[in-house]
Amino acid sequence: MKKLVIILLFPIYCQAATFQFNFGAGFNDATVVTPEGGNSGTTLGAQRQILFQAVANVWGARIQSNVTIVVDASFTALTCNPNSAVLGSAGPTSFHSGFPSQPIANTFYPRSLIDAIRGVNNNPGVSDITAQFNSAIDTGCFNGGTYYYGINGDAPPGRVQLFSTVLHEIGHGLGFISLASLNDGSFPNGGIPAIYDRFVFDTEDNLPWTAMTNPQRFASMINDPNLIWNGNNVTNNASSFITQGFNSGKVRLFAPASLQPGSSVSHFSSAAFPDLLMEPSLGNIAFNQVDLSPFLFQDLGYLISSDVIFANGFE
Ligand SMILES: [Zn+2]
Repeated sequence: MKKLVIILLFPIYCQAATFQFNFGAGFNDATVVTPEGGNSGTTLGAQRQILFQAVANVWGARIQSNVTIVVDASFTALTCNPNSAVLGSAGPTSFHSGFPSQPIANTFYPRSLIDAIRGVNNNPGVSDITAQFNSAIDTGCFNGGTYYYGINGDAPPGRVQLFSTVLHEIGHGLGFISLASLNDGSFPNGGIPAIYDRFVFDTEDNLPWTAMTNPQRFASMINDPNLIWNGNNVTNNASSFITQGFNSGKVRLFAPASLQPGSSVSHFSSAAFPDLLMEPSLGNIAFNQVDLSPFLFQDLGYLISSDVIFANGFE
């Protein structure tokens, strides 16, 4: 009997991104814990380190870069009560415009994307992403729902899926973030948008954000359901992931009538169904799903890899 083995690996021109963490507060926590969900750590700090590296491997398989992406990560006490809790926050450490071979002029690019485009580290020794996570969750302040540290499956009911939380926050750090002011709609440095902002479009005004005045843009931030992502890679792949959350055939962004600092604009709409990783609240999602997000990064200018498929063959 012939045996056919099919193994599809990355095409050779792809360079999966490597992440390196600078583990800060909370990653050396010596509290003894029981291994769970494939996470073999026996202290809280060790489980956190193991989980973060597992998360990085998911992004690394989808985002291409020759330059190691350096992430400063720490745990600190953030807002937490039985009704709501902040799980984390993250962003690029800085944005830059005017670098050699910049694809779109007069545009702020996040540090990790500049490195990926240029193929060289523009600022060795400087971190690309900074991320904070809420240490209070593990005290049970959020209705007893502590973080689930498993790395090979979904969190059991009542636990908070840290794997998805970290995936989400690193997504912001890679550039899933607007730079428009939530106070007046202006762009920084006299009007330079982030690369993300170049794809934000209002279907009611029929204008991209970059063609608006500051007051127009300020009004557009709360113009649900008319704020959409106008990038071809997201648009062309969206129907593979969601059946709801569209306007004019484009995927909606989060633009509720009352502005939500830290959430408005820099997420997909919570109307998306099934839930997406980059919605403002952790939804009903598989622990390791990144769904549409890689296509948004492709719109921003990253090269991305296809899903990896391993098959053991058949006889
Ligand atoms: Zn977010």
